[in-house]
Amino acid sequence: MTVYLDHAATTPMRPEAVEAMLPYFTGRFGNASGSHAVAREARKALDEARDIVADCLGARPGEIVFTGGGTEADNLAIVGRHTAQPGTAVCTAVEHHAVLHACGALSESRVVPVTADGVVDLDALTGMLDPSVTVVSVMLANNEVGAIQPLAEVSDAVRAAAPDAVLHTDAVQAFSWLDVARLGAAADLVAVSAHKFGGPKGVGALVVREGVDVEPIIHGGGQERDRRSGTYNVAGIVGMAAAMQSTVAGRAATVERVAALRDRLADGLLAAIPDGSETGDRANKIAGNCHLCFEGVESESLLVLLDGAGVCAAAGSACQSGAIEPSHVLTAMGVPAERAMGALRLSLGSTTTEADVDLALEVIPPAVERLRRAS
Ligand code: PLP
Repeated sequence: MTVYLDHAATTPMRPEAVEAMLPYFTGRFGNASGSHAVAREARKALDEARDIVADCLGARPGEIVFTGGGTEADNLAIVGRHTAQPGTAVCTAVEHHAVLHACGALSESRVVPVTADGVVDLDALTGMLDPSVTVVSVMLANNEVGAIQPLAEVSDAVRAAAPDAVLHTDAVQAFSWLDVARLGAAADLVAVSAHKFGGPKGVGALVVREGVDVEPIIHGGGQERDRRSGTYNVAGIVGMAAAMQSTVAGRAATVERVAALRDRLADGLLAAIPDGSETGDRANKIAGNCHLCFEGVESESLLVLLDGAGVCAAAGSACQSGAIEPSHVLTAMGVPAERAMGALRLSLGSTTTEADVDLALEVIPPAVERLRRAS
């Protein structure tokens, strides 16, 4: 039996999404930009998907820009905004590298510190805002520790101190758990990625609110009203819409069920393993996140042992797996390096079961003990 506790890295496809996509790999293969019957069929599917995605994100259909995933949506928001309105970019220290590195690639950027719980320091943010700032990026929920950011307060601070700035939020990890249509309303730009909520990989969306000036970062045939060129990934977009719809329909119930599973997992591990600590404030996290640190253990060795015992987990963000440096998120939260090196991220999802938690509780404590004895 394999217990998959790495939903923050990617999620299994929802059956509704697979089913919705299949016809677009076979008979309905048209290029949605064309004008004949086969193309029109693809265009109709694209338009319907756009309406669904807009509805699920609290946006108008014309405000949706389909992208090739979350990384591209974040880059379009930050680099595209900077190109339209050159100036200073501001982001938090716990952003995903898609945001951190996009900001870092610009001529001028500032990084806002976070509290010990991974929440943006609002005073420090205010201190970094001035009229030169043209884009501010604060994620809705963090991919490593699950911390939820106070977007409405961030928005108030930005509107007050940086009149030319737009607020971007990376809602890639949030969508499965939070009402992004409501919470994301505070932002001008909102990025999501289908594979984090049961849709296919390589497709995402950026909400660009009406009147917000963003230049394209990919130039070509002028699709997406010239905001993102490239032949439409109709199957992917249709799959994303189906996954969004089913995520939203079941979200409240899933959050309640998974939060209870997460609590049982976190409490069980902390009770069974001495010298373990939980990262962040559980009351201010997305339901699927369980992040613990075990002193005297190296994450990478623990992951290998857990993998051998059938448990798929992560140390930091997926793209950092294998790196020996402590994660930038934990460092920004002030977690000491000895503790951060023993980080374990268990991320639950809508398909996680009681049996998964039982097996994780059986396997993880002896694995930690074995590594501690060996060191
Ligand atoms: N932003 C966050 C918070 C993420 O967790 C990820 C993926 O790990 C991304 C952006 C990148 O999304 P994608 O994998 O679709 O490029």
